[in-house]
Formats: sequence, structure tokens, C-alpha cells
Amino acid sequence: MKVVALAGGVGGAKLVSGLAQSLGPQELTVIVNTGDDFWHLGLRICPDLDTVCYTLAGLANKLTGWGREGETWRVIEELKRFDGADWFKLGDRDLALHLYRTGLLAAGKNLTEVVAELLQIWDVETVVLPMSDDPVATMVFTENGEMAFQEYFVKYQWQPKVKGFRFLGADNALPTKEVISAIEEAKVVIIAPSNPWVSIGPILSVSGMKELLKTKNVIAVSPLIGGRAVKGPAAKMYHELGLEPSSSTVARQYQDVINGFVLDTIDAQECEIINVLGIGTFLTDIMMRDYLDRKRLADEVLDMSRKTWVH
Ligand code: GDP
Repeated sequence: MKVVALAGGVGGAKLVSGLAQSLGPQELTVIVNTGDDFWHLGLRICPDLDTVCYTLAGLANKLTGWGREGETWRVIEELKRFDGADWFKLGDRDLALHLYRTGLLAAGKNLTEVVAELLQIWDVETVVLPMSDDPVATMVFTENGEMAFQEYFVKYQWQPKVKGFRFLGADNALPTKEVISAIEEAKVVIIAPSNPWVSIGPILSVSGMKELLKTKNVIAVSPLIGGRAVKGPAAKMYHELGLEPSSSTVARQYQDVINGFVLDTIDAQECEIINVLGIGTFLTDIMMRDYLDRKRLADEVLDMSRKTWVH
């Protein structure tokens, strides 16, 4: 069965790793957010793509979920001597990737080609695609003014209150031909439990993406459990935007594109609200504590997707 997963970084990569255990490499394509991508020290950095690819390659740092296992930090130590150069944590091995990727891009390759080359080097057979080869930049409106996503997330540790978001370039960014054919061929599209505002939001903002998804069987997994994010600012963002952080709020946000929603058993009381929106629900334990949990949840979501849903 051909499956497409839409994913951001850490939460997305966990479910993607479960799906990759459950499906054959020819069956899974992952479409990844590039709204977090930015230039730093002259290098092109793609945090969510790297988290997904490192995870699939078995290279990810298991504690942080991002960056490399067995990393060293010699370059960043030296960068501390230079004004403002060390706010974004870059390990030495990670830096090697950014150098190589920036070189390929400068030589005229597009991001889709660069990711394909890296996956080949790492022996990863799952197809991973950037949501677009055109640049999209997630911008965060905060109480302290508008800032680029990595500035909000890393430099200010997601502490400023958010007022809204915009995705610069999204109107002119097109899904690549690889993204279009993967979605067209997919039996099911799974929206991973990534941050709906800043990980899935940018993917859905790419020109024509929602229209492509509207014709498909699309199932989202909630990133919130009991109104809380497992990691990161998702719940805080809902509060600050005046919305209740809950699985039904997430389902409502995806209402245009999904026909199925997977939420945690402890949120069972929310099913009725979601069903009224015309969205089917499935209750299970959606916390992925380890590799076994990732595969279990992936299997359950795939089983659910084999049932027929009425949009
Ligand atoms: P980021 O770009 O690195 O922040 O990563 P994502 O947007 O992909 O992931 C962040 C989201 O993943 C947060 O909203 C978390 O609540 C969610 N998340 C992380 N781990 C889990 C998990 O085990 N289960 C579920 N359901 N959500 C998770």
C-alpha cells in the first residue's frame, strides 16, 4: 500500500520511523516541512529534513531527537569567540552535512536532488521529499515583533508570546513533481503528530497542496495528549492564540483536509465533537516512548486507514 506521511521534525520523525518499520521502502514517501530552513554562517540548514533523514539513517541523537549521535562540538567552541556566531547549536558532524549540502546547492542542484543523494549515501531506501524546492520561510509574530522561526525557537527558546504566523514565499512555492505524484499515487496520507502551526502549517500553505490532499484519504495523529504537547511549544501556542489546546482543536484546524483523526484514549470525550465535524476518530495510546511504540502506533494508524471513511 502506497503511503505518504507529512512531517516536521522530532514528533514527525518518531512516527515516520514506525511507518518505515511497518512498510516496505517502495511503499513510504515522507514529505517534510522546509519552512524552518534558514541561512546561518553562509550555510543552508534544513532542521526538519535533517531530523527525519538522521532518524531513518539511524544516526539521530536518541536523547534530543535532533542532531547526530556521538557528536563533537569543536567548531562551535571556537565560534563562541566571534560575536553572535554560536546561538544555533551545530555539532561537527552535523556541520559537515551543512557544508556538503550548501556546496551541492551552490553547484545548481535542487533540494529534492540533494536529499536523494544524501539518503543514498546513508543507505536509506525510504523516499524523503522537501515539501517544495522553492523557499518558504516561517515567520512568527510575537509580543516582541516579527521574527524568523529559528530565532523564535532557538535564540529565544520559544518564550515570547505568539500572535500569529506567516509563511513567506508560500504563495509562489509549488509542490515538486515528485510530491505531486507521491500524493496522487498514495492510498492514504498520514499527517504525523508534528506541530500543526509551524511544522504542518507550512506544508499545507504550499500553493495547491490542500487541493491535492482534498481528494485523498487523509488521517492525522494528534500531537496533543490531555491538552499538553509531548515536547515543544504547540500547547503554549494554542493558549497564546486564545484557543483551547486539545485534540478537537487540532482536528478542527485540519478539518479541510482530513477524514480521520487519531487521538489518545485519555481524550475519549473529544470524539463526539470531532465526529460532528464529519471526521472519523480512532482512540489509542499515541505516546511513542520507544521504537516498539513507534511501530505499534504506525501499525494501528495503517490499520485504521484501511477502513473506509466518509469525508
Ligand atoms: P519539531 O519541528 O522538531 O518541533 O518537531 P515536530 O513539529 O515534528 O514535533 C513536535 C510535536 O511532536 C509536538 O507538538 C509534540 O507534542 C509532538 N510529539 C512528540 N513526541 C510525540 C509522541 O510520542 N506522540 C505524539 N502523539 N506526539 C508527539
